[in-house]
Amino acid sequence: MPLVTSKEMFKKAYEGGYAIGAFNVNNMEIIQGITEAAQEVNAPLILQVSAGARKYAKHVYLMKLIEAALEDTGLPICVHLDHGDTFEVCKSCIDGGFTSVMIDGSHHSFEENIKLTKQVVEYAHSKGVTVEGELGKLAGIEDAVNVSAEDASYTKPEQVEEFVSRTGVDSLAIAIGTSHGAFKFKGDAQLRFDILEEVQKRLPGFPIVLHGASSVLPEYVDMINAFGGKMPGAKGVPAEMLRKAAAMSVCKINIDSDLRLALTASIRKYFAEHPDHFDPRQYLSPARAAIKEVVKDKLINVLGCAGKA
Ligand SMILES: [Zn+2]
Repeated sequence: MPLVTSKEMFKKAYEGGYAIGAFNVNNMEIIQGITEAAQEVNAPLILQVSAGARKYAKHVYLMKLIEAALEDTGLPICVHLDHGDTFEVCKSCIDGGFTSVMIDGSHHSFEENIKLTKQVVEYAHSKGVTVEGELGKLAGIEDAVNVSAEDASYTKPEQVEEFVSRTGVDSLAIAIGTSHGAFKFKGDAQLRFDILEEVQKRLPGFPIVLHGASSVLPEYVDMINAFGGKMPGAKGVPAEMLRKAAAMSVCKINIDSDLRLALTASIRKYFAEHPDHFDPRQYLSPARAAIKEVVKDKLINVLGCAGKA
């Protein structure tokens, strides 16, 4: 099976009341951990690549690794650019074989965002590639995206119909209180389901995307701290809130921090227990296995997309 776009995946997810997991990839172990989990539970996948990941691993390496995963698993896999910020970056990913891109014009004015998004949509659609746009701004830090809590803003539901109809985007990321990174909430998560509900009412059948949706899994934060780390305690987005969103119009849920925490925790534990080891395969094997466990749990218990490939 060749790489697929998000179109068919989102249509089925919307109708089935579940969401597709979009996991960020940076190297072979992360790609293998994610795809082995998806293969075991037969789930469709979005593997997404940020500008930072392309800089770290190079476009061609990530593309070839993802092609290997496709051949190895036979799953429907979509390769997506996470937070493209210019037309040029989106074009380069489309020309380089991605089947989906995000153009994040949320830091621009509404009119500028529409103009930029429309330009990307026109090029992407001429190549059969799907596009995710964004309205509203999430707080937090993820690679090059850094928005302070004061600059964050919820999506205005009254803008979504105009944005979607004027740009032609295939999906829309909205801000309802989730945030990027591992330091999301000091207290309990507050998500504005009233905004999601209003957006769904205004855009019936249209796929919505949630970014910054890690749960900041406490078992891995605790493990990092038990083995010499210094992670501040923070709360993430609870699984039941994501399940509720997935049953509504949310078709894609982005998860990155939880995978990073699992990987780092298992490497810290490994070195604490084997201080004389230095073979990367020894400490990367449990790290890959930890990623697989986290992803499997998300696919089955959070996203509801197990068995949907
Ligand atoms: Zn994001």
